[in-house]
Order: sequence, then C-alpha cells, then structure tokens
Amino acid sequence: MSLGSLTWQKKFIDGTPGDPKIGGLPRQVPGACWSRVDPTPTPNPELRLWSREMADDLGVDRSDVDILGGCRVSGGMTPYAQRYGGHQFGNWAGQLGDGRAITLGEANVDGRTYELQLKGSGITPYSRFADGKAVLRSSIREFLCSEAMFHLGVPTTRALSLVTTGEPVVRDIMYDGNPKPEPGAIVCRVAESFLRFGSFEIHSAMGDYETLKRLVDFTISNHFEGHDPSSDEGLVRWLNRVAETTAAMIAHWERVGFVHGVMNTDNMSIHGITIDYGPFGWVEDYDPNWTPNTTDSNTRRYTFGNQRLVGEWNFARLLEAVSPLFEDPSNLYRSLEHYRTSFKSHTEAMWVSKLGLRQSAPGDDELVAQLVSLLRVVETDMTIFFRSLGTIDGLNPLDMAHAYYDEAALPVDELGLWLGKWWSRVDGDPDREAMNNANPKYVLRNWMSQLAIEAAEADDYSVAIELQDLLRAPYEEQPSSQDRWYKKRPEWARHKVGCSMLSCSS
Ligand code: AMP
Ligand code: MG
Repeated sequence: MSLGSLTWQKKFIDGTPGDPKIGGLPRQVPGACWSRVDPTPTPNPELRLWSREMADDLGVDRSDVDILGGCRVSGGMTPYAQRYGGHQFGNWAGQLGDGRAITLGEANVDGRTYELQLKGSGITPYSRFADGKAVLRSSIREFLCSEAMFHLGVPTTRALSLVTTGEPVVRDIMYDGNPKPEPGAIVCRVAESFLRFGSFEIHSAMGDYETLKRLVDFTISNHFEGHDPSSDEGLVRWLNRVAETTAAMIAHWERVGFVHGVMNTDNMSIHGITIDYGPFGWVEDYDPNWTPNTTDSNTRRYTFGNQRLVGEWNFARLLEAVSPLFEDPSNLYRSLEHYRTSFKSHTEAMWVSKLGLRQSAPGDDELVAQLVSLLRVVETDMTIFFRSLGTIDGLNPLDMAHAYYDEAALPVDELGLWLGKWWSRVDGDPDREAMNNANPKYVLRNWMSQLAIEAAEADDYSVAIELQDLLRAPYEEQPSSQDRWYKKRPEWARHKVGCSMLSCSS
C-alpha cells in the first residue's frame, strides 16, 4: 500500500487550538498547539535507507519517495508543526517548537495511531533563525540509532526512511568558524505522538491555562486510555504513568550504555520514549562522567551517570507546568516520589538481569556499587565486559581481558575479588539467558555510525545497511560479524569529531 492510501486522521489539530495562519515566517504563536505548514519540496529526493519492520507495521511500500522527500502531500494528510517550549541546559528557553520537523498526519492502522513526521523538511513558524533542514550525517545517526534502540528493547521513536534531498545544507560542524556544504537529508520518523514535556510547559509559562487544560485533556483521552483528567487524583495517576515510563526509559539507557546528550525538556517525550537523536553517544570505555556533547563539556549536565537525575529534574518541570490544573498542587509531590521509586525498581530489575542474579537480595546494592567503581579503575569496555561476564565459567580474571583497553593493565586483584563475590552471590550458576538478553553483544558504537556516514557521504550506503542488519539482532552472537563489529573503540576514534565529540550542529 502507498502512504497516501493509509487511513489518515487529524485528531491533534481537531482536538487542540491552533494557529489561524498557514505557514509563514518564524514568529511567536501564542495560544496555539500547532501551525499548519507544508514541507518544502526538495530538488532530487532519493530513498537511501528503509526500515522494513516499520514499513510492515504500517503496511506501506517504498513507492512514495516524493512524499518522504517533502515534494508532495497526499489527500488525507494535514501537515503541521507542533508548538512547544522547553528548558534547555537548565534554563527556560521560551517558544521552541518543530523548527525542522513537519508532521504529515496521524495514520490509523488497526486501531493504533502512528504519527509520521519528516525531519529536515524546511522552514516552519518555529524555525527561529535556522533553515529547517538536516544533514546526511545526523540523519544517518538518527535513522540507525532509533531502529537499533527499538531492537534493543529501548522505548523509542522509530524511523521509516532516509531520503537524500539533492540539496546542499551549510553547517559549521564544530561551531569553530568553518562552515561548509553537506548533503541534505530527511528522515521520516514515527511515534504514537511527538508530544513533549515542553508541549505543556509553553502554555503554563505564558499563563495560558485554558490551552494547557485542553492539551492535557486531549493527551489523556487520546493517548492514556483508562485515565481521567477531571480530578487531582486522575491527574496524579496520569503523571505517575509518565513517571514510570520515563524512569523505565532511562534505566534502559543505563542498561545498554546510551547517552542522549541533550536531555532538554523539549526532548522528553510524554510517552517515555527516546526522542530527538542529536549529539547522542554510546559509552564505550565505562565512564559515568562521559558526555558526547561538546556543547556540554564544561557543565557536564547530560553525562551518562547524570541522566537519572536529569530525568527527575525534567519531570519536576512537567509537574510544575501542570500544577495550575490542580486543586491542591501539593499532590504533585506524590508523582515526584513515584519517579524515584519507579527508577529504583527499574534499576534493581536491570541489575538482576545484567548480573544474572535471578532475583534481588540484600547486599546487591553494594555488589553493584563495587562493580561500578571497578569498571572505572582502568579503561574498560562496557559492552564487552557485560557480555563476557555472561560467558565466563569460574573466577579467572584473565577471561575478562578482552574487555580492557590495555590488557596489560587489567586490575587482576580488584577484578578477582569482585568476581569472587559475584560468583558466590549466584552460587556459581548465573542466569546466563537473562544476562544475554540484557547485555547486548552489538550496539551502535560511535565509530560505527561514523564509518557508515563517511561511506554514505561518498555515495556508498552499504555500511549503513550492514549496520542496520547487524543491529536487528543485537543480542544474537552473529559470529560472521564478530571480528568487524564486536570490538573496542579503535584508536583512530578516540578523539575524532563524530565519534567522541559531537555538537548540536545537525
Ligand atoms: P534540539 O535541541 O536539536 O532538539 O533542537 C532545539 C530546537 O531547535 C527545536 O525547536 C528544533 O526544532 C530547533 N532546530 C534545530 N535545528 C534546526 C534547524 N536546522 N532549523 C530550524 N530549527 C531547528
Ligand atoms: Mg528537539
């Protein structure tokens, strides 16, 4: 089936107040949740990457490259950009909105809602001072990573397609005065909705509680079945659900070693799904203090180990935003507490499976804390360490040597000590199956995306497709791929732009 023949709905724009003006230049749009705007046609759209899993869910074929490239809108679609605000790096930033994402519409497939959105498809009323476009490198990263996250079992937005536009886009990649043209691209991404914490914050910040209430009512009745916004009790139940999914998502990030990089409140989905793949990265040598985002290298707000606290801080901003709807706002503390208890139970369960413990027991916190310090003693590869732990038989620290960047520096004593404690905790019989399902063998290491990008920029998409295939089954052994991809970060990638250093330029 073609995209155009899906059953298109427009619940969001029918159910919330919008901008009376269609399209137009960047501006403030008070009182609105969205502005109607069409994608800007591109000169030469070519389909480069395609997710057959996403396409199967939607029941669509590859025939609509013109739609995916922003050149055509079919009958039932009602394209719009969403208005939202957000706290960026801890500060209220006012109106942001979809500056370079345009929703085509909501497709109803077997009763499920799928919002299809083109990212990089031109100027909207929310583009502020920028061009509304996206470059190939960041589009490849979003496409590969969001699909990899899906197969890893991490809640995420999805990607259907990546189309190159045939149009150069100028970017100063490290913001150091070296702008250059890069190939432009558009990713079609898919989610139940792209509502963010910032979607609610903007109305509250403007004192527009009527629009806030309409958006909350819309969100609950359309996306949170069985919830009721008409009382404090109902709102707390809804927010507790948001707390749970957000906490679960961040626990998953910790499980697989994902660092979002820009956890601003406009990049926090109300559904607790990973959203807005920008300067994200994957922990290779285990370092809770690592952030891939060079814009954050001084403040280190969005490091791997800080994500749980930032999640809580962001959630508190959502609670503040909806507080005007409460008869007794002190009820909101219950949801904040719920975030903490949810996070604790999700991380506990995560460690039980990562370490093959079968069930949690007193003393596990200490075992985990000792492990986390051990991993920092010398450079240790997170993915290889946990994967290897599921295969070793006995207590020989040398069996873990492959996980160390300098095998000669293996902390034999400390590692031996910890392995001994772990081995007796699991009675010499760890739950290896649970471990293999919690500790992926393959993740999208930073240098892997970079190799895919460099090839694609030379018109060769084979590496990207190979990685897409590999990461369809990240928990499988895949012996034929092992030598190429089950590897520590190569030396060339240690300080390379695009691998260890990323900016928001995209
Ligand atoms: P981000 O931190 O990438 O999620 O983006 C923050 C805000 O900047 C969002 O409102 C984006 O829509 C907007 N933005 C980012 N890049 C562009 C661009 N090239 N053109 C227009 N708006 C953009
Ligand atoms: Mg964003």
